[in-house]
Amino acid sequence: MLIGWPALSARCDRAGIPLRGGFHPRDDDGVPPAGDLPAGTLVLLGNAGPSMWRAFSRAREDAPELALDDWTSTVVSALAAELDATALFPFTGPPYWPFQRWAQRADPVHPSPLGILIHPRFGLWHGYRAALVFAERLSLPPREDLPSPCASCADRPCLHACPVSAFSPGSYDVAACVGHLDAQAGAPCVTGGCLSRRACPVGGEHIYPEEQRRFHMRAFRLAA
Ligand code: SF4
Ligand code: SF4
Repeated sequence: MLIGWPALSARCDRAGIPLRGGFHPRDDDGVPPAGDLPAGTLVLLGNAGPSMWRAFSRAREDAPELALDDWTSTVVSALAAELDATALFPFTGPPYWPFQRWAQRADPVHPSPLGILIHPRFGLWHGYRAALVFAERLSLPPREDLPSPCASCADRPCLHACPVSAFSPGSYDVAACVGHLDAQAGAPCVTGGCLSRRACPVGGEHIYPEEQRRFHMRAFRLAA
């Protein structure tokens, strides 16, 4: 379906999962076809700001055990059917789609020392939850060209805030992190979210609400 960017953005907002950016796939992007047709456009959906969490929280009022992945899958699959697009997710597979690479094509995000992508405005408080692949070549807004905030962050407080030094450049000690979370001393992380992530000064006004940080931490502990 040929749809303009403003209309697509408004439709995704109504669904509760905002549009994060898009690009026209090249052969080396690893984007699958849109049904039987070559991919003309890939757009990413996710969270930056509170709207997705609010929509998910509303859905959980009637289903308290509803998982975020299940909610995302239901909402985005319905959007894909309506818009004649193909839905892809970062939490299913194989195949495992290169969402981090796609995000860097669609959005001005950069690798951070914590391994997650940093956005110059949203900091570490954003995420990519799904993609829609269209056969059509949609008209896209220009991608912002913003440098990585990490390049000018001399002190790198994110690397010094973890009580068990789980992060070092290029590595993350999952076992040390989980061990700390399971101990009484890990309560500040469990209830308020990762201290390393919270130490980053970029995008502080976009920090997830405490309930959302606790939710993600619980999901991480269950998956680890
Ligand atoms: S604290 Fe500095 S180095 Fe760490 S993620 Fe934030 S901007 Fe990047
Ligand atoms: S959740 Fe806590 S223990 Fe785990 S990496 Fe973050 S700061 Fe360290």
